[in-house]
Order: sequence, then structure tokens, then C-alpha cells
Amino acid sequence: MTNAAKAVIDPEAMVHNIQVMRRQAPNSKVMTVVKSDGYGHGLVSVATTLAPYSDAFGVARIEEALTLRQAGIRLPIVLLEGFYEADELPLLVEHQLTATVHCHEQVTMLTNAALSEPLPVWLKVDSGMHRLGFEPEQVPDALSALKACDNVAPQIGFLSHFGCADEMDNPITQAQIDTFTQVTEGLPGERSLAASSGTLFWPQSHFDWVRPGICLYGISSRIELTGEQLGLKPAMRLTSRVMAVRKLKAGEPVGYGARWRSERDTLIGVLAIGYGDGYPRLAPDGTPVWLNGREVPLAGRVSMDMITVDLGPDATDSVGDEAVLWGPELPVERIARLVDTIGYELVCQVTGRVPRQYL
Ligand code: PLP
Repeated sequence: MTNAAKAVIDPEAMVHNIQVMRRQAPNSKVMTVVKSDGYGHGLVSVATTLAPYSDAFGVARIEEALTLRQAGIRLPIVLLEGFYEADELPLLVEHQLTATVHCHEQVTMLTNAALSEPLPVWLKVDSGMHRLGFEPEQVPDALSALKACDNVAPQIGFLSHFGCADEMDNPITQAQIDTFTQVTEGLPGERSLAASSGTLFWPQSHFDWVRPGICLYGISSRIELTGEQLGLKPAMRLTSRVMAVRKLKAGEPVGYGARWRSERDTLIGVLAIGYGDGYPRLAPDGTPVWLNGREVPLAGRVSMDMITVDLGPDATDSVGDEAVLWGPELPVERIARLVDTIGYELVCQVTGRVPRQYL
């Protein structure tokens, strides 16, 4: 299938990126976050590549953890959202998974279970994001309940998550660091607060474990910067091919809704990629696409399977030429800004029909 879109993944870039993150937090262990199919880069391949450089993996869903175990990953795997139902607990024990405990319902489920072995857990503290976690004043009771529970392994860690660490002048981040420090002061367990932005920009948040995700894939956690500006290497190159080159007369429209009309006679390249592949439908006219060593602008609405670009009247591009939608030549953060989103969403949205090819 010469015309199909593909996502080419560079394992060496990911190894470079995790080393950058390790250098930022040299005294901390690294929990490599691979949820949502390794941020669209392929869960098992990412984990296999980064296992030698990781101390643990972080995932959101039990299915992701089980996939890693089936693939032979032996490192600790932390369920960052914990578990949802008591039925899941024996599975967690069987596969030696680590649970995050963020609410009283989970404590009750643990207390009432009959497990063959105690489960290692992290207690999640709400240090100010107000999404998941025990409020500071609830932590002592939750901790006592967990300590009293035979189903919980004795070494309980403390984990929290930032809401605004990508905004350098937001006072909430320092307040979260202060709250987390106060709540966990003197307690024996390990502590973890920083994800990518914390690891890069808030050294006082490193504690015992950092939990980078997006930066491992070479993408900036701050929308105003690119991964490259942070010394990272983009790991995904999303490509497709020119499937047709069409002549268009001045004033003629292209595509659904006739959104774009050419001001001059020109050549239009039709590329085999669309929102059915995860390319954002809201990309405006002018969104850059990399083709034959230059940027060409998107012209007209993104379809399910195709996009159209203005090649210019003198273009020499041909059917079969490869185009890059984002990657080392074209930072995904630039495309994200144009569609009012973040690089995270674009790479996670690359759909299942796009093959991941590993270099
Ligand atoms: N830790 C937790 C609890 C998360 O939810 C996430 C991602 O959302 C991460 C770490 C990794 O975050 P990032 O991709 O910004 O590094």
C-alpha cells in the first residue's frame, strides 16, 4: 500500500529523551508513563525500548498493564488511577501490579477483599489539582486504614499530580509542592509529584520518583515550546503520500464546503491522510505540510481519508511522493497550536488503521 499513511517511530529518539529526563532529575527514579498506547507510539514497543532505562511503568488502565505483562515486561507497573471494582484486585495480585489508591471506596474494597498476597500501593494526595486524591486532612485516616489492612503491602508511597506545571508563572505549582511536602513530611514512604513539566522546570518537585510521559516522545509539555527547543527528539514522524496532483484554475474551490478557493491557477496535491487516520479535521487553511523539502499549505477542509495542499503553479511534486504531517521536520506542537490543542492529543489520536513502523 504505497499511498497509506504511517507513523514511523524512532526508538533511539525515545532513548535520547529518557536520558535527557534522567539527567534533569539525577537523584530520582523514573516511572515511564506509557498510557494510551504509549501516547500513540505503540505500548509494547515503547515499553520494550525504554525498559532498560526505566525503574517502573505508569499506565491508566488495567488492560494496558496486562498487555505489558503478556509482552514479558517485568518491571513494576503502577496503575495511576488504581482500580475500579473489587473484582479486579485478585488480577492485580496475580500480575504483580501496583495500585494507586485515591478514594475511600478503594480503601473499603481493599479492606473487604481476601487477597492471597498484599498489594503494593501508592496513596494519592490531592495537593491542589482537585481531580483525584485524598484531601490533605483526609490523608492521616486513609493512611491508617491502609496500614491496618492485611491486603496492603507495608511500604506505602505518596503520589500527587500537578495541574499547572506547564505555566511557569502560575503560583499554584509552588503551592502544590508546599502542600505535598507538608502532608508527607516525616512519613516513611517514597514520594512522587513531577510529570514532564515538573521534571524539566520544577526541580524542587523531583522527590524520589519522577513520572515523565510526553517528553519521552520528544514533545514539549509546554505549548509555547517545541520538543527540539527542550533538547528532545520527536519520536513520531506521521507520513503519507501524494495520491493525485490536480490542476486548479483561479477562483475554483477544493473539497467539502468549498472552503478554500485558489487566487491563481495552481496545482493541488491530494494526500492520503484524513481525520480517519487522526489528522485533525479542524486544521485551518494554511496548516503546514512538509513535502519535498519545503512546507506547503493545507487548502480546504480535511476529509476522512484525504487532505488537499496547494503545491503552487510551478510544483514538480509527483504521485507517490512522501509528505510529513508532523515529525522532526515539522513539530507537532506547531500543528497543535493551529488547531487549539496540545501535542499530546494529536499523537494519541492517530488511529488504529495507521501502521506504526519502528526504525
Ligand atoms: N502522572 C500522572 C498521574 C498522569 O496522569 C500523567 C499524564 O497525564 C503523567 C504522570 C505524565 O504526564 P506528562 O505526559 O505531562 O509527562
